[in-house]
Amino acid sequence: MAKQIAILGSTGSIGRNALRVIEALGSDYEVIALSAHSNVELLAEQARVYKPKFVAVTNPDYAGRLRGFIGDMDVEILAGPEGLVETAELEEVDIVLTAVVGAAGLPAVFAAARCGKQLAVANKEPLVVAGELLLSEAKKNGGVILPVDSEHSAVFQAMQSGTREEVNKIILTASGGPFRGITAEDIRNVTLEQALAHPVWNMGPKITIDSATMMNKAFEIIEARWLFDIPVDKIEVLIHPESIIHSLVEFVDGSVVAQLGEPDMCLPIQYALTYPQRVAGIAKRLRLEQISKLTFEKPDFETFRALRLAYEVARACGTAAAVFNAANEAAVEEFLAGGIEFVTIVELIEHCLNKHDVKAGASIEELLEADAWARKEVRVKVHKSPSKAG
Ligand code: NDP
Ligand code: MG
Repeated sequence: MAKQIAILGSTGSIGRNALRVIEALGSDYEVIALSAHSNVELLAEQARVYKPKFVAVTNPDYAGRLRGFIGDMDVEILAGPEGLVETAELEEVDIVLTAVVGAAGLPAVFAAARCGKQLAVANKEPLVVAGELLLSEAKKNGGVILPVDSEHSAVFQAMQSGTREEVNKIILTASGGPFRGITAEDIRNVTLEQALAHPVWNMGPKITIDSATMMNKAFEIIEARWLFDIPVDKIEVLIHPESIIHSLVEFVDGSVVAQLGEPDMCLPIQYALTYPQRVAGIAKRLRLEQISKLTFEKPDFETFRALRLAYEVARACGTAAAVFNAANEAAVEEFLAGGIEFVTIVELIEHCLNKHDVKAGASIEELLEADAWARKEVRVKVHKSPSKAG
């Protein structure tokens, strides 16, 4: 029987790569469900090619248009955020690949964990916000959470060289983004266009901005903390501009195990689908002789304050990460819309964290409450203060 895969966010950068990966894997894997937020043109095209039984459109205003495109097909249309949850819960689904952007993916990821599905997680924000609850929900229901994020896929692969107790530390690599090496002074003048020009990875706009502020790496520290159940003080960041070593694990005996590959998301996507097997696929092959050298630098915690904040947030636990993530989502939206300066993103996040009273042992409802509060706080700060968000 072919494995039935639901791709949440099939119209995005990860979703589109996932479809290529699945197509190349052949008849052992089938796409049973796809989702988009509002790009129903592409969703309809994908539906004609991959013939899923279900398609979900999370922005309900677009459901009618989608029906117009594929009304003649034998496919069930699910609409609204609840449609995404229903998709994740479908009896017929074996693997849920979560590739939507932001905490908006949380209810669907949680539903998949509750149903004990195999979860291939690209959508890192729900893990940042509710990692502890998600991991325990999956464990309780016999599900498994497999990382798609390239660094976490690398750590997951390296971890197989020893036991959890034998791990000394995790070293997450980072390309450094478009502003690697910039001074705290010069970063004040960067533009939206520069922030969107990532030197290595071609990704959706939100994660591209997160890479420029290094919030992406900050999230990845918290993501690793939950995925690998490791204290945050045992997670380090190393700048590696070539993005060939995707991350490393140091064991107690001093042995360091790394995973290498071309910067190509097809490989971690595929591994999260075929695990525990490895099969031939479409990911680009690494030719080390063509790469003259691999370089490494220490991260700059002064210019990229998001990195420092990640450790504080991870130690604070509770609702802190929900605020950290939501303030960032709201601030990045403002930045992409041209409403604030680049450096204001992290200033807004710091403002929200300073103002928030962290609640320990928070439930999903309390996390969502903290999330809503931070988004509102950012909007008020940006739109009501005379100096915009300053
Ligand atoms: P994109 O912006 O390219 O795609 C996002 C997808 O989510 C689209 O299908 C989009 O639909 C859908 N979407 C947007 N808003 C909502 C919403 N409110 N509710 C439900 N679905 C929504 O993002 P990426 O593919 O780059 O990233 C997806 C996730 O994977 C992110 O969490 C990111 O951090 C993570 N990730 C991405 C990597 C990459 O290489 N791109 C690498 C590692 C992690 P529509 O097209 O209709 O807007
Ligand atoms: Mg990553």
